[in-house]
Amino acid sequence: MERVNHLANYEPAQERRPQFWRLAMRCAQIAGTVDVIFFFLFHALGSPILAWVNVVSVAMYAGAYYALKYQRNKIAVVLIWAEVLGHAGLGIVLIGWESGFHYYLLMFIPAICVSASRRWAVYALLALWGYYIALDVLMWYVEPLQPIPQTALHIVHLFNLSVVFAMFSYLASYYLRMVVTAQRKLREMATTDSLTGLFNRRHMTYLAEKEVARFRRSGHPVGFLLLDVDHFKSINDAYGHEAGDRVLGFVADVIREELRAQDLIGRWGGEEFLVILPDTDSINARASAERIRNAFLAKDWSAITGGDADVTISVGVSELRSGEDLSAAVSRADEALYRGKTAGRNRVELETI
Ligand code: GH3
Ligand code: MG
Ligand code: MG
Repeated sequence: MERVNHLANYEPAQERRPQFWRLAMRCAQIAGTVDVIFFFLFHALGSPILAWVNVVSVAMYAGAYYALKYQRNKIAVVLIWAEVLGHAGLGIVLIGWESGFHYYLLMFIPAICVSASRRWAVYALLALWGYYIALDVLMWYVEPLQPIPQTALHIVHLFNLSVVFAMFSYLASYYLRMVVTAQRKLREMATTDSLTGLFNRRHMTYLAEKEVARFRRSGHPVGFLLLDVDHFKSINDAYGHEAGDRVLGFVADVIREELRAQDLIGRWGGEEFLVILPDTDSINARASAERIRNAFLAKDWSAITGGDADVTISVGVSELRSGEDLSAAVSRADEALYRGKTAGRNRVELETI
């Protein structure tokens, strides 16, 4: 555990938070575009100095974009910080606090929180806050150096406010999407078996418990199938473990193809599978099991193993009884499976009454 954490600390930043750096690239693009608009806006508003400041800004964003593209993240971070701090400071000192250039500084808050370690985030946030306050206080005492007409100032203010508003909305929705995707991946990892794509044993137990509860409420029958590949060890021995893994993937496919969408299929153990059949009594469950067994016989396994061995399956069938718990129903299916094995395999056996 220690070793894994130790290694994780030394992963390149781009690999640790790839989405963050992709987002940074997108932001550099957007900010560069905004500065191109500024160039024309300030020309139109009669402030050529501020217009040319934006040419420098666009160059810095272009530099940051290419630095990110070639994974020189530190250079990119320095360029973006310098641009935003410099541009905001300059805009405010030149045309005043009402220009709203300081709003851009706020956009660093979420960026710092997601990209830096906690200690560095605290330092960076404090520095940002200090800079913001210093600019604000400075402008209480200092007149803008290059004031523009009041109407022009209002236009710049509204423009800045709108850009920051749009960028915050974009960032918020981006982060939400990121979190939702990460959650989905985690859930998938926690509930599925990676080899077969079926539910894993833990999730299957959870789903089965829910079916048991539903049975207690509604009395609708619940069927169980316990399936075990016959002589799987000899498949491994004959074709190798990797071929065995491939066969398990196809075994899962065959089972899935023969069942309904509402049936729940899980990998219960190595080459053993559990199926829960909602609203199905043992007679219908047995019919499903026979369908699966026959599908195994119909399949051309030589295409998968590269040899001539057929893969067959034995199935034990049970139905949930009132007053009992999940393990009782599964162990009756297991007993039936065992009988199928001793009776020669490639068989479906129903629980005994
Ligand atoms: P039976 O018909 O009695 O079920 O015989 P069997 O050989 O299938 O049963 P046994 O329990 O003796 O062997 C199961 C084998 O399944 C042994 C184990 O190596 C193999 N196995 C379990 N999990 C995996 C896996 O994930 N991949 C592969 N390739 N083999 C596995
Ligand atoms: Mg087996
Ligand atoms: Mg087994």
